[in-house]
Amino acid sequence: MNKFELATQAHESMSDITAQVRRAIADSGVREGICTVYCPHTTAGITINENADPDVVHDLLGAMAKLVPWEAGYRHAEGNSAAHVKSTLVGASASVLVDDGQPVLGTWQSVFFCEFDGPRQRKFLVKTLSA
Ligand code: ZN
Repeated sequence: MNKFELATQAHESMSDITAQVRRAIADSGVREGICTVYCPHTTAGITINENADPDVVHDLLGAMAKLVPWEAGYRHAEGNSAAHVKSTLVGASASVLVDDGQPVLGTWQSVFFCEFDGPRQRKFLVKTLSA
């Protein structure tokens, strides 16, 4: 398993971590299998989406902000319930198939670390299983 550190730079952001995922798969030596990327945080998540047009990330974060307003009468005293909700909507992990030692991603797909309550020092884990 590979563990990576990530210092997010904004309150909300999506960081392309595909290069780290590719490195972790290479380190594993697995040629055929499945790779899980996991985020051990309750106000962040992992997803796969478009890497080509940065407006897509902007629109994703904007749409989630409309779906889950920061202030909405939440009870959680820490004041970041919106970030917890977004973490659950996005999910704490994503899996990608591995073929010939590479993640099977579409031309426009990348793996993203989603920050919903930053900036913070974060980490994510990558485990590749042979199958
Ligand atoms: Zn909280």
